[in-house]
Amino acid sequence: MNKLAVKKKTLSNYIDGQWVKSTTDKYLEVPNPATGEILAEVPISTQEDLEKAVVAAKKAFATWKKVAVPQRSRILFKYQQLLIENREELAKLITIENGKNYNEALGEVQRGIECVEFASGAPTLMMGYQLPDIATNIESGMYRYPLGVVAGITPFNFPMMVPCWMFPLAIASGNTFILKPSERTPLLVNRLAELLEEAELPKGVFNIVHGAHDIVNGILSHPDIPAVSFVGSQPVAEYVYKTGTSNGKRVQALAGAKNHTIVLPDADMDLTVTNIINAAFGSAGERCMACAVVVAVGDIADELVTRLVDESNKMTIGNGLEEDIFLGPVIRDSHKDKTLSYIDSGVKEGATLLRDGRDDNSSSEGGYFVGPTIFDHVTQEMKIWKEEIFAPVLSIVRVETIEDAIEFTNKSDFANGACLFTDSAKAIRQFREEIDAGMLGVNLGVPAPMAFFPFSGYKKSFYGDLHANGRDGIEFYTRKKMVTARHSY
Ligand code: NAD
Repeated sequence: MNKLAVKKKTLSNYIDGQWVKSTTDKYLEVPNPATGEILAEVPISTQEDLEKAVVAAKKAFATWKKVAVPQRSRILFKYQQLLIENREELAKLITIENGKNYNEALGEVQRGIECVEFASGAPTLMMGYQLPDIATNIESGMYRYPLGVVAGITPFNFPMMVPCWMFPLAIASGNTFILKPSERTPLLVNRLAELLEEAELPKGVFNIVHGAHDIVNGILSHPDIPAVSFVGSQPVAEYVYKTGTSNGKRVQALAGAKNHTIVLPDADMDLTVTNIINAAFGSAGERCMACAVVVAVGDIADELVTRLVDESNKMTIGNGLEEDIFLGPVIRDSHKDKTLSYIDSGVKEGATLLRDGRDDNSSSEGGYFVGPTIFDHVTQEMKIWKEEIFAPVLSIVRVETIEDAIEFTNKSDFANGACLFTDSAKAIRQFREEIDAGMLGVNLGVPAPMAFFPFSGYKKSFYGDLHANGRDGIEFYTRKKMVTARHSY
């Protein structure tokens, strides 16, 4: 199980249905974060590479947009089957390049498959609407059309799920697509392309250009790319949104997060502890829906804190391909260093370090491990509360009432997710009405919506109007034509 599935190789771009060597002379090594072993080198592609992809995607658009919508769906149905048949291999690749444990990786593959399932419903999703009689003998109807060549720029933390938020729906609705995956996790997407080819997707409909910020900038200024989907950190999301929209593009930019979980005194303690542990430390805290802050209300705090520390002490740390490992590495050495400096700053600013993950042992040598870390008595003046750490570091805050908890949570700059643990219907309603976040969870830890609902963060967690997935997704990837027609009878 823990043998490498990939030998070190030099990755190519995928353009017009071919594996094309980049014209660059710059390559970046891609280590397995659990071992430090170099898996591959990824090209930091050039504008020339991007241009080739745009030309191919533009050419493919001319025919793909005319392929009957049910036929586009059939290709996606076939693709969904192929993803199911290859789910174990895909999950293993995710663990190897990202570090999350194998079960979490399998969960991610499943979420990706669900996006393809949703997009396979294109004939229904693409429908417009009509009114036969807007005036005597005059009818009016809305028809939905694709935009053209659209681009997706993705982060390292969900190498499969996040690209699947984008390209299945984009191509199902008749667009062609250029993916710029994270240069830190570039392996899995190449396999996604191979499977699209097996599903008989025509050449040029889906393309991959590996690389870094230069390709992002090339996408943002390219006149033949009318729309860009981005997922990544807050400063880059803001930059992508502002630059893309000022160049006249449609942009959706999903950004960072700092999700709070409120625990009321009537919460089921076993359920609460299990879910918070999973949400705070699962995927090494590298989830935009991770629980970063627990807001303990009233006298539940002491017991909750003790139980969270006890559970963290039992946590297995190591290579996620090994059985029974819960906590894998963070993505890079540099991210580990950044996390350790956040922990140092929490100590300096006066938070109580209840569990210190800085020196935890792992079962794997050479990886970038940080053990579960818990701070108590965190305040809003502290850097560890204000900023997204994106690592297995949990802050605990103590307040007296649900009103205090909601007020505290709403002061965050971010508004991706928020959770509540309680047995009270009144509290659940109060939470739903008053909390300032886009994805709410009640008695569960990670309230990530399924593919047929929008991924609906706001404030500094999202830049744009139409979210990824759900109806918003189809709106984002299509434009409308209104036809008003007079008839002579
Ligand atoms: P990142 O911002 O470093 O990178 C994301 C993408 O942007 C990558 O493809 C990268 O090559 C590119 N990029 C990075 N710096 C750039 C720059 N200066 N100019 C242009 N392009 C640049 O993000 P990451 O570290 O890969 O991913 C983690 C972040 O993504 C976290 O903040 C997390 O919360 C966020 N995220 C958000 C969601 C959501 O739905 N809101 C989902 C997943 C991840």
